[in-house]
Amino acid sequence: MISTTLNPQPVNSSTIRPAIQSLQPQIVAWRRHIHQRPELAFRENLTAEFVSQKLTEWGIEHQTGIAKTGVVAVIKGEKILAATDAPAKVLAIRTDMDALPIQEENEVAYKSQHNGIMHACGHDGHTAIALATAYYLSCHRADFAGTVKIIFQPAEEGPGGAKPMIAAGVLQNPDVDAIIGLHLWNYLPLGTVGVRKGALMAATELFQCTIFGKGGHGAIPQQTIDSIVVSAQIINALQSIVARNINPLESAVLTVGELHAGTAHNVIADTAKFRGTVRYFNLEVGERIQQRLEQIISGVCQSHGAKYELEYIKCYPPVINDEKIVALVHSVAESVLETPLGIVPECQTMGGEDMSFFLQAVPGCYFFLGSANPEQNLAYPHHHPRFNFDETVLSTGVEIFVRCVEKFCN
Ligand SMILES: [Zn+2]
Ligand SMILES: [Zn+2]
Repeated sequence: MISTTLNPQPVNSSTIRPAIQSLQPQIVAWRRHIHQRPELAFRENLTAEFVSQKLTEWGIEHQTGIAKTGVVAVIKGEKILAATDAPAKVLAIRTDMDALPIQEENEVAYKSQHNGIMHACGHDGHTAIALATAYYLSCHRADFAGTVKIIFQPAEEGPGGAKPMIAAGVLQNPDVDAIIGLHLWNYLPLGTVGVRKGALMAATELFQCTIFGKGGHGAIPQQTIDSIVVSAQIINALQSIVARNINPLESAVLTVGELHAGTAHNVIADTAKFRGTVRYFNLEVGERIQQRLEQIISGVCQSHGAKYELEYIKCYPPVINDEKIVALVHSVAESVLETPLGIVPECQTMGGEDMSFFLQAVPGCYFFLGSANPEQNLAYPHHHPRFNFDETVLSTGVEIFVRCVEKFCN
């Protein structure tokens, strides 16, 4: 059972930290409560219920059931700013709530109670940080002007909850001026923030291809079209796209992660299927890769008399940060970490995130909050059955969000 009697003291700017740190045991308790009850994409019912229950207890206006399981909280500041014509600002904070189809291997008291499902990406921590931010801001409305919207979205791990939430109007009424969000990041040590303007994370795309040959006897190849040989030549040739068709100063990945064909060692396979992923930062690079991919598949098939079917799915666009909001997050992170050395500049990954849809709609900044602590064996990569992070990072995340609100809205 989680106590809800929280009594933070009234604070000024210099006492924000102790006030937030006094919430740390509660934030950890919320994170562990969510960790024990992980849920897959668009089925985050217990999680959304828990979030809604907390928001209700704290008297925070919110809406549930957006894009199935999404929740949006609205917290209005009460600070009166010096007379100005500028309208009050609206800042959104985005978090994700879904888990992964992974069997947890951590032996911890708060281990997942849902067989085969695990918070192996840290979204339990994100949800706890967002809840604590909502709680803190609702207790300190006099400290900020404008409005803060906290968006708890489903299905980040796919197929994506950001797009349907935007379609449901979460960035409107009141209209959001800017958005921020964070990902706990075990590729960076505790006490660091990774951020950059422009592309932070890559676009993620999926292609699946079926090659139709002509099967037959393994010893009489002249009567067949070998779909395995055709696929092998295609997969080899695809590697030349990044190597030969893309400007070497750009970044791109093309990985074929699945190949299925054949039923017996002495039978030439009639069909073969392969699937892969494409990643890039620059939209023109993406167009070029997709175009070359189809040209190569088509050309190799033609040269063998094979046919093909290709499906190319653009999942998430690249995560592109706005220069001004990056500057805001950067300066806040520097003050929270108390050292410019904690900022990892030019941090980038070919991983993807559907935060990108929010960033296409409004200017904003997504950043990584270093959460690894190898000394405590808390440094496994994301999506690993032993993934876990140093929970002391939770209050740091809250402090960065709260200070961003006060700096942006005031
Ligand atoms: Zn993930
Ligand atoms: Zn994630």
